[in-house]
Amino acid sequence: MADKPEIQKKQSHFMRVITGDYGVNHQEVLEILGVAVIIVHVTMMFMYHIMDIWELSLYNVISTAYYSYCYGIVRSGRVARGYLLTFLEIIFQMILTTVVIGWDAGFYTYVIAIIPLYFYISMFVMKNEDRIFYPMIWSILTVISILVSYFVGQAFTPIESMSMVQMSIAFVFNLFLSCQLIIWMSHFFVLGYKKSLDTLANQNATLDVEASIDPMTKLFNRRTMETALDGALEEAKKTGAIFSLVMSDIDFFKKINDTYGHDCGDVALVAVAEILKACVRDGDTVCRWGGEEFLILVHGNRSVATTVAERIRSRIENNVVEYEGNQIRFTMTLGVSTYSPGYSLEKLLTQADENLYYGKEHGRNQVVSIKPKVTSTVAEHSTPTVH
Ligand code: GH3
Ligand code: MG
Ligand code: MG
Repeated sequence: MADKPEIQKKQSHFMRVITGDYGVNHQEVLEILGVAVIIVHVTMMFMYHIMDIWELSLYNVISTAYYSYCYGIVRSGRVARGYLLTFLEIIFQMILTTVVIGWDAGFYTYVIAIIPLYFYISMFVMKNEDRIFYPMIWSILTVISILVSYFVGQAFTPIESMSMVQMSIAFVFNLFLSCQLIIWMSHFFVLGYKKSLDTLANQNATLDVEASIDPMTKLFNRRTMETALDGALEEAKKTGAIFSLVMSDIDFFKKINDTYGHDCGDVALVAVAEILKACVRDGDTVCRWGGEEFLILVHGNRSVATTVAERIRSRIENNVVEYEGNQIRFTMTLGVSTYSPGYSLEKLLTQADENLYYGKEHGRNQVVSIKPKVTSTVAEHSTPTVH
């Protein structure tokens, strides 16, 4: 009873391997295959010993040692060489067994059965360009070697004579193992292929994220914002959902760079990004539009956007950036524009920009939502007006 959970755990692990959840380790697959081949040859050694066919029993002693050597080669990572040696052995074994016990014992099935292995190795193990031709070259060699073996079988009477029962046992044994090779290598080929596709999909997803984000501030970049703006415009045209833009620019940012250095400027930009993210609602989009300019897409009317902008202005004004023992304060000017039917994105962006620069020209550290009216001025900072 105590062993039961352990057995269940092993079964689920087995299922995870079969379904590909565990991930496919190609080196492991080939090593397991190597162990299986050694076990098969040991079994054959006993089987032919019992059948009293000493030539094949002796041959399987040698081939067991041979595959132990091949296993070592595969383990050391020289898979192509291990595979070549395997292929040569299978051909040699096919011809030898045809000479000793005859074609009908079915050793040719192994040569056909390793075809899925050609695909597996050429797709997932070979690194050079030659791999494209591997399945084709080896398939041609397969056909030639089978034909040679077949004609050898026709030309010579087998050295050992086997009873019908013995021949059937040998044939079914060989066919069964060949089928196992086909089934498992085909399956691992599919798992390997699936893993490659999954890896590619993950890499694409990572690249998509990287391509949409500004690496320093971790805000969306201009490209992503342009897509978001297109979406908001479409939505507004379709449903009438109003949206606004807030264009913001740090005041006298050059001075921060000039006084404390460019790295300090970067720290300030990251601090601004954090404040912007904290001040908007889920669904609104904040981006680094360029340099020390940030654009916010607010899903709301002018009043909502002005409230957001004023919250940002106030938070920035009260924020202190610590850098190498210095306490740095700065302010920000923000321009708001709001969608009206018939507006283009260019017009909205230009309006937000014009309002921003109106604010710059009229004292900075303010929110301008309708030019020339200044909605929040330097004088109003202690009690910011919300429009
Ligand atoms: P204003 O109040 O008129 O906006 O003054 P300003 O000094 O902020 O304006 P200006 O646009 O002339 O200067 C922006 C500066 O921002 C210039 C540029 O070197 C700096 N800058 C742009 N991108 C970065 C960055 O990634 N890191 C740092 N540290 N500085 C940057
Ligand atoms: Mg500036
Ligand atoms: Mg600027």
